[in-house]
Amino acid sequence: MAKTIQAIRGMNDCLPTQTPLWQKVEGTVKDVISGYGYSEVRMPIVEMTNLFCRAIGEVTDVVEKEMYTFEDRNGDSLTLRPEGTASCVRAGIENGLLYNQEQRLWYMGPMFRHERPQKGRYRQFHQFGVEVFGLNGPDVDAELIMMTARLWRELGIHEHVRLELNSIGSLEARAGYREALVAFLMQHEAILDEDSKRRMHTNPLRVLDSKNPDIQAVLVDAPKLSEYLDDESKQHFAGLCELLDAAGIQYSVNEKLVRGLDYYNRTVFEWITESLGSQGTVCGGGRYDGLVEQLGGKATPAVGFAMGVERLVLLMETLELNETRPVVDVYMVTAGEGTLAAGMQLAETLRERVPGLRVMTHFGGGNFKKQFKRADKVGASVALVLGEDEVANKVVTYKDLKGGEQLTISQDDVAEKLAQRV
Ligand code: ATP
Ligand code: MG
Repeated sequence: MAKTIQAIRGMNDCLPTQTPLWQKVEGTVKDVISGYGYSEVRMPIVEMTNLFCRAIGEVTDVVEKEMYTFEDRNGDSLTLRPEGTASCVRAGIENGLLYNQEQRLWYMGPMFRHERPQKGRYRQFHQFGVEVFGLNGPDVDAELIMMTARLWRELGIHEHVRLELNSIGSLEARAGYREALVAFLMQHEAILDEDSKRRMHTNPLRVLDSKNPDIQAVLVDAPKLSEYLDDESKQHFAGLCELLDAAGIQYSVNEKLVRGLDYYNRTVFEWITESLGSQGTVCGGGRYDGLVEQLGGKATPAVGFAMGVERLVLLMETLELNETRPVVDVYMVTAGEGTLAAGMQLAETLRERVPGLRVMTHFGGGNFKKQFKRADKVGASVALVLGEDEVANKVVTYKDLKGGEQLTISQDDVAEKLAQRV
C-alpha cells in the first residue's frame, strides 16, 4: 500500500461532524453584521509581501516570524495573508472605495501564520473581520463593540467573555510615551528577559504585553500611556466610554493593552474568555487612522476588528453549546420492484413543495431494519416507506421516528404534513 500523505501541521480539516457548528457560528455572525447594514468584501488570500511589511510593521511578531512567504515563478515575493485588514485597505484604495467615501465592510476567510500549533492556535485559521472607513467619531467604535456584544448574546457566550479597552492615542503621543518607556526600561535592563530586551529597542510598547510575571512586576512603576495621551484622543476615548455606558456594555480599561500590530491608534479593544486557557482572546480590534495614507491612499480614518472562528467554536464546545440540528429531516425507505425510482421522484416533489426540507434517499438496498438503522444514524425524524403496495395505491407509510406515530397517507398529502415539521 502506498504511504499516506498527511495535512500540514497546524492546518486542519473541518469534518462533517464539525461543520454544523461552524455553519451555525458563521450564519449567526453574518446575520448579526447584516443587521447593521455592512457589506461583504472578498479579497485574495495571497498578496505581495511588502503589503504586510508596510501595514503591519517590520518589527511585529507577525512580520518577523509568522508569515508564510515564498517566491512565485516570476520571482515575486508573495505572502499568504496573516490577517485581513491590510488586504482590505489595499483593495479599498485600488478600487477607489475609500476616496471621500464611507464604507462599512466585513469579510471572512482563512488566515495563515507560522506559529506553534496548540489548542486555539493554528497555522491556518479563520477570521471574521469588520472594517469601517471614512468615519472619525467614537460612535463607530462604539457600534463595532455593540455589534460584537450582540453577537456574543446570540451565540449564548456573553457571560463568558469580558471586554478590555484602552486608548493608545495619536502616533505623536505614542512617540513621546515610547521615549519615556524606553528610558524606564533601560534603567531596569538587568532584570529584563531576552524577549523584552530585544523589544525594548524595536517595539517597546510590546514589552507591556509580556506574559512574564517578573516583567509585569517591573512594569508596575513604568510610566503610564494615559499620561501621554493627546487631548483629542482623551476626548475620543471619553466619548466612546460614554456611548458604551449608555448601551449598558461593561468593560475594563486595561492601560497595558496595546495590541500587536503597528497600525493602531486611539481605541484598542479585546474580548477575552477565561475558558480557553492562554488562547483566550476571541476578538480584537481598534482604530487605524493612519493606515490608508501609509499604504498610498488619501488620509482616511478607519476602525475595525477581527475574531477567530476556531476560538469561538472551541468556546461553544467547551460551554456545551454545540448542539446543532441533524442534517437530514426525512429518510426515504424503499423496498420492491420499481419503488426506488418512485421514492426518488417523491423526494424530488417534496424538496420542491417544502422549501428547506432535507430529504435523504436510501441507496444500496437491504431490508427495512437496515434502512431504519441508517435513518436513525443520520438523525432523521421521519421515515417515509414505499413498498410495492404503496406505489400501486399512490400512498406512503409515514413513520415518526421520534414520537412513534405511524400512518398511511396519500402521496399528495405528505408534503403538507411534512411542512409542519420544518
Ligand atoms: P494572539 O495574542 O492570541 O496571538 P493576535 O493578537 O495575534 O492574537 P489578531 O491579529 O488580533 O490576534 O487576530 C484577531 C483574532 O484572530 C484573535 O483574537 C484570535 O481570536 C484569532 N487568531 C489570531 N491568531 C490565531 C491563530 N494562530 N490561530 C487561531 N486563531 C487566531
Ligand atoms: Mg498572535
